[in-house]
Amino acid sequence: MYAIRAQGLTKYYGRTRGIEKLDLSVEKGDFFGFIGPNGAGKSTFIRTILGLISPTSGRAEVLGMDISEKKEKLLANVGYLPSEAIFYDGMKAGKVIKLSAELRKRSCSRYAEELCERLQLDVNKRCDELSFGNRKKLGIICALQHEPELIVLDEPTSGLDPLMQREFWNILHEHNRRGATIFLSSHILSEIRNNCRNAAIIRGGSIIATGSVSELSKTDARRVAIMGSADISALEGVRALEKNEQGMSFLYSGEASSLLRALACGDVRGITITEPGLEEIFMHYYEEEAAE
Ligand code: ADP
Repeated sequence: MYAIRAQGLTKYYGRTRGIEKLDLSVEKGDFFGFIGPNGAGKSTFIRTILGLISPTSGRAEVLGMDISEKKEKLLANVGYLPSEAIFYDGMKAGKVIKLSAELRKRSCSRYAEELCERLQLDVNKRCDELSFGNRKKLGIICALQHEPELIVLDEPTSGLDPLMQREFWNILHEHNRRGATIFLSSHILSEIRNNCRNAAIIRGGSIIATGSVSELSKTDARRVAIMGSADISALEGVRALEKNEQGMSFLYSGEASSLLRALACGDVRGITITEPGLEEIFMHYYEEEAAE
């Protein structure tokens, strides 16, 4: 069964494209990363599937319920962290947590206390006294305290220091182990690689690739770094070429023998060939799309 299923989901803000004919399925129990550059449509997708904004066309189901018909029922089983959480300034953090629990009609004060302790949030501070990172923690606690079936987080780690990020991921994995589906957007690829099982890449309002993180990371291309000089202008399969005073570096997906021949004719003092990092692989998805 799917936790999230969108078919042809489209949202236009007037004439501005938010998302366009977006198809995406996320299985229940998954730990899913939603990756894309700024403006790609990540927040629009999230706000649309949670019924916070209405789609222009297309449809979506969350936890098996149609988003336009069962908005309230589905939100009761969802925890949501917006990219920029806004709270009542004069209210103490503890009161915000309590109010958010009451809205869900759940008593979860014990778990909320545990979360505050683990994320080191001072509940006696007023929201306007909290730093950006502490406001983020408050948003995370409000999204998780009622142990929802689906946890949707929009750019959750921005503003958290590394220690708090580690604790945050520990907490999310605990929720995933109890069966909750985790869906989070990010443009930090390392955190997707380290934590998510599956991922989708969004660009220009549509999904350009989806699959397991290990599948998405697979590539035939290698990063070739050369000390010295060689004429590679006739080589096919060269991308992301960078030159400096010592030599050059590029991604190569062509024939090994052609590369060796080109290098043999040059003045090459050193060479390293490595697997490209996840960042480079995902950049390659973006570049391919841009070239079409
Ligand atoms: P992301 O979350 O990936 O950064 P968004 O979903 O915020 O992307 O934005 C996708 C596109 O929709 C952008 O071009 C953005 O300017 C536009 N957009 C987002 N929210 C609004 C809004 N409330 N009004 C008008 N345009 C918007």
